[in-house]
Amino acid sequence: MPVVQIVTTGGTIASRIDPASGAAVPVVKADELVAQVPVLSEIAEIRVTEFSLVGSWNMTPARMAALARTVRDLLAEPETAGVVITHGTDTMEESAFALSLLLGSEGPVVFTGAMLNASEPGFDGPRNLVAAVRVAADPAARQLGTVVVLNNEIHAARDVTKSHTTALDTFISPGLGPLGIVDDRGVWLRRQPTQAPPPLPLVDPVPGVYLIKMAAGMEDLLLRAALQGQARGVVVEASGTGNVYEPWEDAIADLLAAGIPVVVVSRCPGGRVTFTYGGRGGGKSLEALGVISGGDLSGPKARLALMFALGAGWDLERVRAYFAQLTGD
Ligand code: ASP
Repeated sequence: MPVVQIVTTGGTIASRIDPASGAAVPVVKADELVAQVPVLSEIAEIRVTEFSLVGSWNMTPARMAALARTVRDLLAEPETAGVVITHGTDTMEESAFALSLLLGSEGPVVFTGAMLNASEPGFDGPRNLVAAVRVAADPAARQLGTVVVLNNEIHAARDVTKSHTTALDTFISPGLGPLGIVDDRGVWLRRQPTQAPPPLPLVDPVPGVYLIKMAAGMEDLLLRAALQGQARGVVVEASGTGNVYEPWEDAIADLLAAGIPVVVVSRCPGGRVTFTYGGRGGGKSLEALGVISGGDLSGPKARLALMFALGAGWDLERVRAYFAQLTGD
């Protein structure tokens, strides 16, 4: 029997409605979570580690690095076939992406969770846990690195995003689709991940990296605050192919002059930054100032990549080269 290590962090999959407040709260401990699904022992020998019991809106990049260390140690145990991490869905794509950066192609590391909690009819936690364990136990999944498995679909950490607040099929990989599916017959892969993440040491992230989203005509106050607050880095979620409202160009120039790296991504869910347009605020003008392209990464994912690349102690040019490798730019 393959050994699958389940690491629990909290989230809806570990939640029940508290009768006093009517609120869903993470209360289900690791052993109870696994005991709810006896069929798991027909798929793999299950070992359990409780990492935390939190709503995933309280996950942080520092906790993600600690989670990566826990997972790395479990993967290093010779009997381990794979690791499953139960996690809230709100920030699952960020934790999965962080682990994919920090662990590279080590795996399989399979994130799963639930959209309904254990007090609701149709609770999807058990079936998602079964699917995740099937993937983690399957040698075919080993080369996938870190993936997200919910609703019987397998998504690459780099591509996946939560697309709907409540739907069970909330996780999508825009423009790409899932890597494959998992069903009663096992894992069925339809494509390989587009790119393995370039090597990054398992470092702690630097704090103080801010994600600032462009909206038509919004003043540059948040960029100015980042400058005054001595941010360590800024990610700008720009419009279209990488454009910002014109006053932002001067604010970005000031950030760069202060030695604060600025990564530009697009607020469009599909496509990548191309830096096509000239004129004030246009992407080509920003590129000339020296911003780093975040390619097709989402804002939250580009922020994590910047936090960890800076955590590695790399200078601006090394960080730029890392982003170029990561995005295939
Ligand atoms: N709605 C979330 C979930 O699905 C709550 C969280 O992210 O912890 O788990």
